[in-house]
Amino acid sequence: MASLASVSKQLQRRLGTRVVATDRESCYAASFDSSKLSFMPAAVIKPRKREDLAAVLELANKHGIPVTPRGRGTTLMGSASPRAGGWVVDLLGLNKIKIDAEAGFAHVQAGAKVADIQRAAAAAGWFYPPDPSSKEYCTIGGNIACNAGGMHGGKYGVTRDFVLALKGYLPTGEFVEWGTATKKFSAGFNLRDLWIGSEGMLGIVTDAVLKLIPAPATRYTLLTSFPDEVSAFTAARALFAARVQPAICEFLDRASVTCAESAMRTTIFPGQPGRPVILLELAGSVAEVKETKLQLLAWAREHAAGHRAARTREEAEALWSVRRKCSGAMFQMGDAKLNEDITVPLKAYATFARFLDKLRKTSGLAIPTFGHLADGNLHVNIMYHKADPRECAAAEAAVQALMEKVVALGGAISGEHGIGLAKTPFLRIQHSDAQVRAMKAVKDALDPKGILNPGKMFEVFEVWKHPRVVASFPWDHK
Ligand SMILES: Cc1cc2nc3c(=O)[nH]c(=O)nc-3n(C[C@H](O)[C@H](O)[C@H](O)COP(=O)(O)OP(=O)(O)OC[C@H]3O[C@@H](n4cnc5c(N)ncnc54)[C@H](O)[C@@H]3O)c2cc1C
Repeated sequence: MASLASVSKQLQRRLGTRVVATDRESCYAASFDSSKLSFMPAAVIKPRKREDLAAVLELANKHGIPVTPRGRGTTLMGSASPRAGGWVVDLLGLNKIKIDAEAGFAHVQAGAKVADIQRAAAAAGWFYPPDPSSKEYCTIGGNIACNAGGMHGGKYGVTRDFVLALKGYLPTGEFVEWGTATKKFSAGFNLRDLWIGSEGMLGIVTDAVLKLIPAPATRYTLLTSFPDEVSAFTAARALFAARVQPAICEFLDRASVTCAESAMRTTIFPGQPGRPVILLELAGSVAEVKETKLQLLAWAREHAAGHRAARTREEAEALWSVRRKCSGAMFQMGDAKLNEDITVPLKAYATFARFLDKLRKTSGLAIPTFGHLADGNLHVNIMYHKADPRECAAAEAAVQALMEKVVALGGAISGEHGIGLAKTPFLRIQHSDAQVRAMKAVKDALDPKGILNPGKMFEVFEVWKHPRVVASFPWDHK
């Protein structure tokens, strides 16, 4: 049996040293993602053309070498960390973007940056709505693999809702195309959607056709504050019941606002420090936004303790800075964070707010929570000090209780980040034995040798028991 090192050298001879790197520095850089869980690979492959992947997967299958696809490594779940070693395939070099301005399609390669796709679409008068906060860094391949969401999810949907077709490689190394550049495609099983959200375990995406929508002509931004979380959640439900669909509806609880206010050294609503807020943005035609704005203001007067509209884009930007600051500012409350991107159904909002209050009391931990109210995707941040064993145990118990509660309420353990390594202890709270067996059967059928991204999703990995590397990324919350 050839050694991993010798097969890596064989691949290097075949594709060249510019494509295959085996030096320690390159391997270390690809050994972890934003989870900072590090596992050394033996080589990092940066394909210059799609066909390079066929050679990689052919050798990997022949010699049983694990292959982990990687976009920009912004996942917080450990899903791009090569847990089983082997090879990392870094797709950043395949990054072409072409807009079909007539059809309203974007033809993109997997390594294209999401913000670049949005800019290219906007330059042609189109709009690509999925809007992860990491969009200035993350790739469309990573977004497809995680079915990424973002602030626009409630009105427009998530990545899945914009993918028309995919090209790429099965784990066995065969090239496949799922769908074409048309809005309708009903020919055969829909394996395109099976790939979306498969976290690099069922195939490597090389190309995608994305659907675009006409760019909104205007926007209106309003910041509202509430006496407490339950009244904020109840008010949001009243807004949606009135058929108002904001493009963005971001909620920050008291703790998140307090963190942002202390980082910004200001009070968002003078005289009302630390109140939960909902930040709303309407987007659409001038007539549509004008009409909906009246409904929104009437709602704010009835339900909110205070409201402030942005008169200019600069004022809107200032309001958004509250949202941007809150996540990094949470490290005032602990030097470690379990960031859980759960979802809860609309009808369970108030129950969930009360549950979080109780969880804060029983755990003795700060649990600042913010998120996308229009689709129920809340980011629950369990803060603790990693040198304090009591706090570590409390955080572990709190995350377990949280996951059990969201599933009991009809929600999901992940709304946008996926399972990776970090959510593996909770997969079976969400899914029955039959469901997990069906998922594993799909994996075994498409990847009989278990080559692609092994050790993820199904094998339990308790992240809080593992050391993290000390490293900083430009996208880290400061
Ligand atoms: C500051 C910050 C903010 C964030 N905000 C959001 C947010 O608002 N919404 C959201 O959904 N997520 C968010 N994330 C999480 C993360 O950005 C997304 O999951 C993103 O989709 C990852 O893209 P990436 O290119 O970095 O992929 P990576 O992190 O490199 O990989 C993620 C997964 O995709 C797989 N993969 C990557 N490329 C391919 C490919 N071409 N083919 C097959 N599999 C592939 C990998 O194997 C891995 O399993 C945030 C992260 C950070 C750090």
